[in-house]
Amino acid sequence: MTTTKTRKVDAVLAAATNVARSALADSVADSDVGHHLAVVAEADRLATHYFASEQPGYRGWRWAVTVTRAPRQKVVTVNEITLLPGEGALVAPDWIPWRDRVSKHDLRPGDLHPRPVEDPRLVPGFLVGDEALDEATAREQRDVAGEVGLGRELVLSIDGRDAAAERWYAGDAGPDAPIAKAAPARCASCGFLVRMGGALSQAFGVCANAFSPSDGHAVSLDHGCGAHSDVAEDQSREQAGVGARRLLDTMAWDTVVDTDLEVIAR
Ligand code: SF4
Repeated sequence: MTTTKTRKVDAVLAAATNVARSALADSVADSDVGHHLAVVAEADRLATHYFASEQPGYRGWRWAVTVTRAPRQKVVTVNEITLLPGEGALVAPDWIPWRDRVSKHDLRPGDLHPRPVEDPRLVPGFLVGDEALDEATAREQRDVAGEVGLGRELVLSIDGRDAAAERWYAGDAGPDAPIAKAAPARCASCGFLVRMGGALSQAFGVCANAFSPSDGHAVSLDHGCGAHSDVAEDQSREQAGVGARRLLDTMAWDTVVDTDLEVIAR
């Protein structure tokens, strides 16, 4: 069993509530300070008195006044006054760096989203699957590759490719998307699937059906949707509960009659 030893509050400091309150009164308006909440030992001859905050917008926060005294001295001095969030206080959410916060939806026309200098998703085009070279050699080879037109300077690394595959598979184009779960068949058997090249082709293709929400996007082979090429017209009508006898013709005139069977509108 683990036990936590609670530090005993120095008696002189514990009795210094008025010293703490008066230091607080010198710093903030009286109306912002509520009742005394507690005194907590921080270290030997160091303690903090807590007072409720009555400041508008800071309900649940606590004024913390840290007091101390020298050894063998009874004079209490104030070290620090601060406002701290207490239980149930309204506080700002944790800071998230913009790099972790920004998403593809934030990029507007004309915006630039620079990649990090060290981006594990990319490797030099001539290094796919190889160990990284030192910077001088890499630059030399990059220059040569560029001069002889060997293609892109940077290409997707194995890490970048795996991350993309995991992201796509877990997202709206994967097998767990609601539309895929309700689909009559998988993309792998769909005539609208365009095969991709490279390692990603083992699990993904590109949907080329204008009536699918995935049109133009990579889809996993075990994804699917109701616009699968096997869904013929009769089948889709049946599924929607629209039989031939129940079709609504909105192009022709309707005749409306009253109870005396008199034509009242066309
Ligand atoms: S139409 Fe649907 S089933 Fe066919 S490839 Fe596109 S998403 Fe997959």
